[in-house]
Amino acid sequence: MAVPKRRKSKAKRDSRRATHKISAKAYNECEKCGASKEAHRVCTSCGWYKDRYVLPVVEVEA
Ligand SMILES: [Zn+2]
Repeated sequence: MAVPKRRKSKAKRDSRRATHKISAKAYNECEKCGASKEAHRVCTSCGWYKDRYVLPVVEVEA
């Protein structure tokens, strides 16, 4: 197995860790109410997810 010749500096190590998991959240429009919602999350304004309402107590304005 390949072995690193030199130990990485603290700056290298820290900058590598600093960039982990940094990304802007993905947003889509809810297909039911058209509000902007986070992708792969329940719509916060109407409770719609996938193909049904998943939040139990949600007032939907007609
Ligand atoms: Zn919605």
